[in-house]
Amino acid sequence: MTCRDFVEFLSEYLSSELAAAERSEFQAHLAECPPCVAYLDTYQKTIQLGKAAYAHPEDRVPDEVPQELVRAILAARAKGMTNPSLDADQPRTRPM
Ligand SMILES: [Zn+2]
Repeated sequence: MTCRDFVEFLSEYLSSELAAAERSEFQAHLAECPPCVAYLDTYQKTIQLGKAAYAHPEDRVPDEVPQELVRAILAARAKGMTNPSLDADQPRTRPM
């Protein structure tokens, strides 16, 4: 397997769509090709960031979440949507 093959089949590998024989070829290539290991790592992180962006479309920068979270909780409490016994030091988000 070449690096080009590796990149072409990477998404199928990650979604477990490759046959066992092809998976073992992937893993064999990873064992001898550090650049592809690095590429795989970057690829997976990119996917995770993409999923996070979809999960929190209004909070694109993770570091800004706490402040928004506090405001959302205060707003929810004002509407009586949270459990009154909920400790303010352990905020929880609710779907609504
Ligand atoms: Zn490679």
